[in-house]
Amino acid sequence: MIVKPRVRGFICTTAHPIGCAEHVRKQITYVKNQIKLSKGPKRVLVIGSSTGYGLASRIVATYASDAETIGVFFERPATKSRPATAGWYNSAAFEEAATADGYYAKSFNGDAFSNELKEQVIQQIKQDWGTVDLVVYSLAAPKRKHPETGEVFSSVIKPIGKRFTSKTVDFQSGVVSETSIEPASEEEIEQTIAVMGGEDWEMWLHALAEADVLAEGAKTVAYSYIGPELTHDIYRTGTIGKAKDDLEQRGRALNHYLQQKCNGRALVSVNKAVVTQASAAIPVVPLYISLLYGEMKKQGVHEDCIEQMFRLYQDRLYRLDGEIPVDSQDRIRIDDLEMKPEIQQAVEQKWEKLTTENIEELSDIEGYRRQFLRLFGFAIEGVDYEQDVAIAVPIKSIPE
Ligand code: NAD
Repeated sequence: MIVKPRVRGFICTTAHPIGCAEHVRKQITYVKNQIKLSKGPKRVLVIGSSTGYGLASRIVATYASDAETIGVFFERPATKSRPATAGWYNSAAFEEAATADGYYAKSFNGDAFSNELKEQVIQQIKQDWGTVDLVVYSLAAPKRKHPETGEVFSSVIKPIGKRFTSKTVDFQSGVVSETSIEPASEEEIEQTIAVMGGEDWEMWLHALAEADVLAEGAKTVAYSYIGPELTHDIYRTGTIGKAKDDLEQRGRALNHYLQQKCNGRALVSVNKAVVTQASAAIPVVPLYISLLYGEMKKQGVHEDCIEQMFRLYQDRLYRLDGEIPVDSQDRIRIDDLEMKPEIQQAVEQKWEKLTTENIEELSDIEGYRRQFLRLFGFAIEGVDYEQDVAIAVPIKSIPE
């Protein structure tokens, strides 16, 4: 099949198998060119490992720390007439490369929120490893079925208490307009917390600890975001921010629990804004990222998922001196470059002036578009998109 991008709003409904593999290969090459971690983890479970920050975390664990990995994700394989999702192709390519390089890599495709999947992963850990050193929690989901009550929760991205009005961009056309979003109801806030808050992370770690598969000194890390004033009303003080508050709060309790259980640690890392399938869905954020990428590239400090995750492991989680620097609320801050005053001031000044007419010049919207397409394996240098490709690609460790 000849696979072309089909973009609908903030999603692309097709993905290119060769392009996704190449995107993964480039991330692997980046890590291979960095120094190895001398104190890194050796057995790593990544929940949400097929795209974005989770995929980058898995690649860094493997190639910077020589770790064995188990990945968990929710992706769709190809059908006769329809390509698989990008996360499926990424995971197939990752396993292919990792096993060729001599690394253990197994994957589970299913609902990470369910008790069944947790049990399957625990059995695999017992059988193959005994214990796990690091659990990365990198889920971003629109819905969650509660494993005890069966209730299905949906997350929404809305402000709280007042209507939110802001500039936004249709990143395909480059048209800048004003968007207005009504505030969330109490019910919507609760549901968003149930999906994107910390309960499921806590459930994973409790299940792993009770099954006695956490190594002495095991760590777990989950990802959060803060961002600038510009996006606070829709992000940090909105519904999704409430979920992140819950994640961070539960992280502190989990830290205490793990200290008792296995001398372990639970940490939340505040990461920078990057182009992923999850962030593309948040109003205003693509416009902010276009300005941010432009400014960070200009100042020579640009980072995508892989650069962020390498720095998280190397300069925060597994530093040579064993220290893990955290802020006053016990959070790792790997968003330090994004939040530099000189970057934020430049972004803010441009934000004020931004219009449809000058967006290409003032921001890196072109870089945003390219990066968005790359998430689905398109716009990757060296890939021939006119070529017929096989869309059915197996993931080595997943039975067909
Ligand atoms: P993403 O959309 O790229 O990845 C989400 C992952 O979750 C995928 O592997 C997907 O398969 C998996 N997933 C979704 N539902 C699942 C389910 N029910 N069962 C199993 N797997 C499931 O997202 P991302 O942007 O990398 O986000 C990961 C985390 O990082 C989130 O907590 C997000 O809030 C946080 N974060 C993101 C940004 C950003 O700018 N993208 C910034 C800071 C923090």
